[in-house]
Amino acid sequence: MSKSMITTLFRTLGDPSYLGPAVARFHADLAEPERVAELDRFLGGEARVLLATSAIGAGFDFNHVDAVIHLESAYGLTDFMQESGRTGRDPRRSGWSFCLVKPSERNPRSNDSTDRLEFRKYLNEQICRRRPILLNFGEVPRSCDPSWQLCDLCLRQKTQQDLVRQAVKQSYQESTTELEFLARATEFFTDSVGPLVMLQSMCLNMI
Ligand SMILES: [Zn+2]
Repeated sequence: MSKSMITTLFRTLGDPSYLGPAVARFHADLAEPERVAELDRFLGGEARVLLATSAIGAGFDFNHVDAVIHLESAYGLTDFMQESGRTGRDPRRSGWSFCLVKPSERNPRSNDSTDRLEFRKYLNEQICRRRPILLNFGEVPRSCDPSWQLCDLCLRQKTQQDLVRQAVKQSYQESTTELEFLARATEFFTDSVGPLVMLQSMCLNMI
């Protein structure tokens, strides 16, 4: 996130009618004492949100950071990973990394560095977010294990599968109900009208 965006967000979120003192900021242009004071407010718990540039990176390891929200695109996949790594430091809790970018950020540009192209691949990934990261580290690409915290793509796929499963179950239940109705109707007509005629017409209806 750029310094100008931090300034704007700090003014908006820091308004007493909104988050007030619950938001702190950190960027290279702040004087050292103010930077320290702002960090203290965040680490002490007074501020629950810290608006920061990439000046906060490796080494900023605090267990209580639940989520990193990337506003504006990262410079590259390496930066993105560094920034994301500020959360998930506590092995007992999941850390979340959200990325909010404009759709145009997905398109490669002629002056992109290799690292930035890798980041765009990450944004364009269709199967699982872990795959481009593992590939970047030269590892075999794998999707989220079902027992892990799923990435947004795997979660979406699972939700779709659950919906299909639900629809099949529903349809099965409905067809079971229809079959029961058919059996009862057949029984009724067999008793009252005669078996052959009604069985044929019911079969035709089913088709
Ligand atoms: Zn996944």
